[in-house]
Amino acid sequence: MIEPLKDYSRLCVHTMTTKPWTLEEALSGYSEAEISAITVWRQHIEPYGAKKAAKLIEKSGLKVVSLCRGGFFPATSGQDREKARNENRRAIDEAAAIGAPLLVLVCGAVPGIDLAVARQQILDGIAAVEPHAKACGVRLGIEPLHPMYAGDRSAINTLEQANNLVIALDSDWVGITVDVYHLWWDPFLRAEIGRCQGKIFSFHVCDWRTPTRDMLNDRGMMGDGCIPIRDIRGWVEKAGFDGPIEVEIFSDDFWAQDQNRLLSRIKSAYLRHV
Ligand code: ZN
Repeated sequence: MIEPLKDYSRLCVHTMTTKPWTLEEALSGYSEAEISAITVWRQHIEPYGAKKAAKLIEKSGLKVVSLCRGGFFPATSGQDREKARNENRRAIDEAAAIGAPLLVLVCGAVPGIDLAVARQQILDGIAAVEPHAKACGVRLGIEPLHPMYAGDRSAINTLEQANNLVIALDSDWVGITVDVYHLWWDPFLRAEIGRCQGKIFSFHVCDWRTPTRDMLNDRGMMGDGCIPIRDIRGWVEKAGFDGPIEVEIFSDDFWAQDQNRLLSRIKSAYLRHV
């Protein structure tokens, strides 16, 4: 049996979870809710610029867990692949500017590019930006995405693939982001999490609603779906991860609701189901 979490010391919320809020509103809303850590999405930084965003975050006292997101490496031309790498280098700079120790990578996929080719381009892309990440002191977390996104979002769809990438890249700066939403269905999940020993850089939670009404924006609150979240947390912790637990919920439903109330729902679901 995995012990329930006793307090909120490891709780982190993604700005995308409270998407209607600006960065400033999120910082004050989380502080008021006594949530002490935040993962920032680039779109929430954009209206301010990294420098101003960094100041606001510092003033709030919230700890930045990661910046979401980089990646999207595959492209049909060499020029566009280079563009993607430069965009990743900019994202790494932004992470460093706001004090985020980690940039999460959604690796990318493009209709018309063979998955095998896309996967090679992803490997080459991460290898190309890794020196910049290292120079800036920002780690890169490869986040495998559910196979329903293999057509246009990510050609990295299982933890096995991500683990193999990490081994091939062989860098202290490259590891794994485990998101229960993307990986819960995998019959080899437990074994593959075991393979991640010391390489899990971050951990995302939400739940899988049945039926899922939208492929992107219908994630569920922890406990409202079929993911054995606490079991997976146990496996992740056994693999050496004791860092923040990040609530990342994209939901048109929740975005239409009062965001302060959403945070209190998150807090109770967190203790009951994570
Ligand atoms: Zn995630």
